[in-house]
Amino acid sequence: MALHADPDRFLDVLKPDRCPLCFLLHDYVHEHLKSVLDESVTDPITREALFQSRGFCRRHAWQAVQQGKNLGVAVIYGSLLEKGLKELSSGPKFWNRSKPKPCPLCESEKKREHSHIQQFALAWNQSEKLRDAFSTSGILCLSHLEKVLLQRLNPSHRKNLYETAKKALEGLLKDLNEFLEKQDYHRSHESFGKERDAWIQAVRMISGERE
Ligand SMILES: [Zn+2]
Ligand SMILES: [Zn+2]
Repeated sequence: MALHADPDRFLDVLKPDRCPLCFLLHDYVHEHLKSVLDESVTDPITREALFQSRGFCRRHAWQAVQQGKNLGVAVIYGSLLEKGLKELSSGPKFWNRSKPKPCPLCESEKKREHSHIQQFALAWNQSEKLRDAFSTSGILCLSHLEKVLLQRLNPSHRKNLYETAKKALEGLLKDLNEFLEKQDYHRSHESFGKERDAWIQAVRMISGERE
């Protein structure tokens, strides 16, 4: 039985200047972190996972701080500090005893990313609407483009994705070159057009969405 794709999820977030997969992932992590901090800080399984990983990784810990979840962060990090101090008194090398488990947020981010990539490939195979919309107003970051191209795709749809996504990235490179040329003093009096933010978009396409 063919798996059912949900192209609307991607159609809803297509924009010419951001990768829909990065965007959905960023949104998921934001919401997931929020729900952990709002609802699960006293849940024994969540607490145990965070003990095992010694808290969130630096990126997700500071994202939690940025979300302003004072109470949730205080509960989690209070108990981590308490546990750390208890273990410290049993010997000075406790942090080196075992390698911490990976950050639980990173783990769920990885899983969700994989599922978005598979879903996008499936939707690309099945939805002409998605292919059409993408060709006029879509772009994928390099990393997600490579990952989607590695999925099972109908050969002609794969070629279509490769060509349309490459064209969008080439357009960005053209804008970036225009931006750079306007830095030259001969052209510095010229005003900027759509290339104004090309340098930021290039960061998105290579390094991913802003945290
Ligand atoms: Zn992306
Ligand atoms: Zn993390």
